[in-house]
Amino acid sequence: MEKTKDILTDTFGRKHNYLRISLTERCNLRCTYCMPAEGIQLSPKEHIMTYEEIYTIAAAFVKLGVTKIRLTGGEPLVRKDAATIIEKLASLPVELTLTTNGVIVDRFVDLFKKSGIKNLNVSLDSLDANKNKDITRRSYFDKVYQNILLLVKEGFNVKVNCVLMKGFNDNETIDFINLGKELPLHIRFIEFMPFDGNRWNMDKMVSLQEILSEVNATFTKDEIIKLKDAPNDTTKSYQIKGYQGTFAIISSVTNPFCDGCNRIRLTANGQIKNCLFSSAESDLLTPLRNGKSINPIIDKAIQAKFKIRSGMDTLDKFKKIDGHNNRSMITIGG
Ligand code: SAM
Ligand code: SF4
Repeated sequence: MEKTKDILTDTFGRKHNYLRISLTERCNLRCTYCMPAEGIQLSPKEHIMTYEEIYTIAAAFVKLGVTKIRLTGGEPLVRKDAATIIEKLASLPVELTLTTNGVIVDRFVDLFKKSGIKNLNVSLDSLDANKNKDITRRSYFDKVYQNILLLVKEGFNVKVNCVLMKGFNDNETIDFINLGKELPLHIRFIEFMPFDGNRWNMDKMVSLQEILSEVNATFTKDEIIKLKDAPNDTTKSYQIKGYQGTFAIISSVTNPFCDGCNRIRLTANGQIKNCLFSSAESDLLTPLRNGKSINPIIDKAIQAKFKIRSGMDTLDKFKKIDGHNNRSMITIGG
């Protein structure tokens, strides 16, 4: 039998076996760092992939070698046919997982179990209900917190994504880490990244080094255990001695882990992006609808991938580009 050409491997030898699919541009929250205050221009409904199209594209990627799929958004669970999509994708031979804001996750627990989903990322940026309201522009703190506890109780492996901001929630770093004392939660601090309309400013960002300095000032050297990071991990992971949980830092701004990048992103309107910071997109949906093969487009997009952060290989280059002509995060899918 003819061997399929390995089109998921780029010119730097990185194999892209991890596909992130954004199910929707819509969300039930309005996080300040993710979407502009004035909202976003939603794609017309007919430009959004149907569940059959999502399945067809996902299956094509799986055939090419994708082994892990993450559903994201917007908020993936607000899509009306989210359950159907999850059920369909669960039939593919992949590790299926989700990133969610947790607001309605309790409605999906049984489906997740049935679909073999074991790992979930839930976003929570403050343990203070008022601050949470300020950042999400909605009042769902109690619901999200209870849902995180529910997922743990139900046996899911839960990672909590947290974006720290100077002078806002950076005094909660240790409180978040301390959640892991009694709960097997994996806290992931994500450096605040620039996207269209999110008023990014380096001065607001809490860096890897700043987080580690605070950790070093709070715990003794003996208490801080450096964990081994997996080859494609974008995190530096740690554990405090005796804690059930762990914490990690995703330093996409100050120390990007592009060498091991294995991700490719599919937006809700059917465009692939070879890097979170790339403004270039390749349309898969139109050729799919026209009955053409999407493989040559995937091939071209992967081969065009830059070594580091879409060509912004230094922090200086990165800082200069406001919003990077990129979409808002809510329409990319983090
Ligand atoms: N709605 C879901 C959620 O919030 O988890 C999934 C989509 S959201 C875009 C995915 C992740 O991107 C979230 O963990 C969020 O905190 C993160 N994110 C969004 N904008 C960001 C930014 N400017 N910098 C860093 N992380 C960001
Ligand atoms: Fe919605 Fe997630 Fe963006 Fe917040 S981070 S606005 S929950 S998509």
